[in-house]
Amino acid sequence: MRNAAGRDVLSATNNLGKDSPMLSSYPVACPHEKCGWTGGLVPSIVRGGPDAEIASMQRAWFRCPSCQRDWEVRITNDRVTVMPAIEQGG
Ligand SMILES: [Zn+2]
Repeated sequence: MRNAAGRDVLSATNNLGKDSPMLSSYPVACPHEKCGWTGGLVPSIVRGGPDAEIASMQRAWFRCPSCQRDWEVRITNDRVTVMPAIEQGG
């Protein structure tokens, strides 16, 4: 019998809230009134989702660490453009 010594240990981390060197953060300013938070954030592909790497021309979401509100952006060549809010309440 041999020991199962060479067992793979996945190094994938799912630690939310920790910044990962694999992900790009962007300098942003919270667009919500009475907040004005500025700093670097890592975007998410979906609203409220986990941090993710966003391809150019793709839409993404940021969550403000100060007021905890989300906003949608489009990232083009590492430039962040805030999308106009088109949701009609809800
Ligand atoms: Zn904010």
